Order: sequence, then structure tokens, then C-alpha cells
Amino acid sequence: MARVFVITGPSGVGKGTLIRGLVARVPELELSVSATTRPPRPGERDGVDYHFLTDEEFERRIRAGEFVEHADYSGRRYGTLRSELEQRTSAGVPVVLEIEVQGARLVRAALPDAVQIFIMPPSREALRERLVGRGTDSEDDIARRLAVAERELMAQDEFAYKVLNDRQTEAVDELESIVRRELTHSLSR
Ligand code: ADP
Ligand code: 5GP
Repeated sequence: MARVFVITGPSGVGKGTLIRGLVARVPELELSVSATTRPPRPGERDGVDYHFLTDEEFERRIRAGEFVEHADYSGRRYGTLRSELEQRTSAGVPVVLEIEVQGARLVRAALPDAVQIFIMPPSREALRERLVGRGTDSEDDIARRLAVAERELMAQDEFAYKVLNDRQTEAVDELESIVRRELTHSLSR
């Protein structure tokens, strides 16, 4: 089966930014499009950035067994659809999941061969500055995300790989080397 890479870490640490850099360097990787009940941010497109679902539709899909994992985060629901994962892995395409820590734990149980990577901020202050600087979340939402980040940071040692996102290029270099090593390793098994 194709490899699955789980990239996790607190909101605002730079997961999305690093993944864009990673996919530019390793173009065979594809990003799984998650489902969420949060409203789209300006510029986000349904089916591209997320599958934006109502609460009822999200609940229906849970009951239909359509999720590999799902979690509540900052008052909204997020989940990885089985179809997003399976259409790629069955075609031999390595896939990246960008998910929060509870979801990463569920994937660890469901897919023990998935490669788990935790992205670390240089400091809590830098994390706050990045969330504020991104300009996409309200003050209340930023406060909620930072509170969750405290718990998420405590979980970092559960992960096989930890990558510090201080200088962006260096973090992408490190991610690329982890991914290439794991892809080569799976070919030789
Ligand atoms: P996440 O996907 O983890 O929530 P984003 O990728 O949206 O985080 O990044 C949050 C903000 O931090 C963005 O404005 C992004 O441009 C910025 N950022 C990402 N990496 C770095 C870095 N290494 N140094 C400074 N700012 C960064
Ligand atoms: P945002 O609202 O900033 O897009 O995402 C909030 C958090 O939800 C981020 O930490 C992001 O990684 C996480 N997330 C996105 N998609 C999923 C998913 O499918 N499952 C889980 N568990 N978390 C997700």
C-alpha cells in the first residue's frame, strides 16, 4: 500500500505553508482534502481546501462510516474521508494528511504504518504572532486555538518525527528528507 504521511502540530505553526513547499519538491505526493463544518475563509474553495459540510451532513457521514478519523476542534468538526485516502493509496499515490493531534492519534491506531510528523513552533510567542499575522481568525478563535496548542505541544513526544519550523526553508528541507527516506524505505520492503 502507498505511504500515508500525517502532519500535525498546533494551529498557526505553519503546517499548510510547509506542506505547500513539500508538495512542490515531491510532486508525487497528494494532499487529502478534509471535511469540516467550519465556514470557508475568504478565498477557500469547496472540494479544494476542504469539503465544507453542514453539521447534519457531517453527522450523516459519521454514521455511514465514511470517516477514517474525525475530531472536534475549536467548536467545529473536522475529519478525513475514507474516499480521499483510499482513492490515492489504492492507486499507489502517497498521501499527506494535515490534521490536528486527536485525529493524528486516531490515525496512529487505524493505520500504524502511517508516518507521523509533529511540527513545532520556535516559541509560544512566535505561534501567537503567526496566528495573528495570518489574519484569518477572530481574537476569540485565536485565544481558543492557543489554549488547544498548549495541550497539543505536550503531545509532541508521541510522534516519530519532530520538525522545528523556525526558518521555513530549513523546515521544508527536513520534511523533504523524511518523506524521501520513508518513500525509499517502503520500496525496499
Ligand atoms: P497552519 O496550517 O499550521 O495553521 P499556516 O501554514 O497557515 O499554519 O501558517 C500560519 C502563518 O504563519 C501564515 O501566515 C504563514 O505565512 C506563517 N508562517 C509559516 N511558516 C513560517 C515561518 N517559518 N516563519 C514565519 N512565518 C511562518
Ligand atoms: P483550520 O480551521 O485552521 O483550517 O484547521 C483547524 C485544525 O483542524 C488544524 O489543526 C488542522 O490541521 C485540523 N484539521 C484539518 N483537517 C482535519 C481532519 O481531517 N481531521 C482532523 N482531525 N483535523 C483536521
